[in-house]
Amino acid sequence: MSTTGYLLDMDGVIYRENQLIPGAAALVEAFTETGTPFLFVTNNSALTPNDLVVKLDHLGISGLNPKHFYTSALNTADFLQETHSNCTVYTIGDAGLMAALNDKHLANDSIGADYVVVGEGQVAAERILKGHELIEKGARLVATNPDNWCPVSATATRPGAGALAAFLEASTGCRAYYLGKPNPYMFIKARQHLGVSVDQVVMIGDTMETDIRGSIEVGMQAYLVLTGSTELDDLADYVYQPTRVMNSIADLVEEIRTGKPGDRLNSPAFDKVKSLTGKTKLGAKHQTDIIGSHRIRPRPAMTK
Ligand SMILES: [Mg+2]
Repeated sequence: MSTTGYLLDMDGVIYRENQLIPGAAALVEAFTETGTPFLFVTNNSALTPNDLVVKLDHLGISGLNPKHFYTSALNTADFLQETHSNCTVYTIGDAGLMAALNDKHLANDSIGADYVVVGEGQVAAERILKGHELIEKGARLVATNPDNWCPVSATATRPGAGALAAFLEASTGCRAYYLGKPNPYMFIKARQHLGVSVDQVVMIGDTMETDIRGSIEVGMQAYLVLTGSTELDDLADYVYQPTRVMNSIADLVEEIRTGKPGDRLNSPAFDKVKSLTGKTKLGAKHQTDIIGSHRIRPRPAMTK
């Protein structure tokens, strides 16, 4: 029997606001006990894998090592090294991005950089200005991920790499190339690290545009958890759909421990659907078909 391996998004899946989501520690324990391959895959380029080990240790998951993490910063460094080894870079981002590029021996260059690489985190205005100048002089624009904002708390966000890249796109007229989820390159690389064949990989995430979209497009199974950015009602807005919807990762712990697939169509996540649709029996087709109700949407604001 071939082994199933799991890629897990972090924010909204295993923690929120420096607080572990119930079931996260038990799930990692179950993965470890059963020898199930797993890898955390995050679009956050601000932290290094080492930082993430420490962060999770503080939150209550110990025993991890840097190899358990693949960030969009590592993805960007992999990409640049593969497509243009020995290129030079000018970074606008945080330590996680700088360390990843440095590990691949891509030199910092504020005079004639081949690439301006944009991530998120503590960003000085002078570096944005310098990035603009370098792009004007011919540098190409690369972003670690397309996320326009990052959650800070349940009610607050901060600008993300996508927003910063959009600033430079507007000021220079150049289009950025975006690494990280949902770029297939992120999923392909993460799968290589996991060491499991593509049809045996399950991606677990909370965001439709990145986690679910990317995994569906590369042919992986995509499990959506409702502990983060997506609510069940939102699913109708998307053309692509997760292969499975769960209330949270806690729903998966028993299944990993016993190796027996859970009763997918009886996931507690669907209780709400039943009460919304009045149907008590779900169809045998795609488990999310039933959610595809059409809603009247307001006309979006004109942008052009
Ligand atoms: Mg997330």
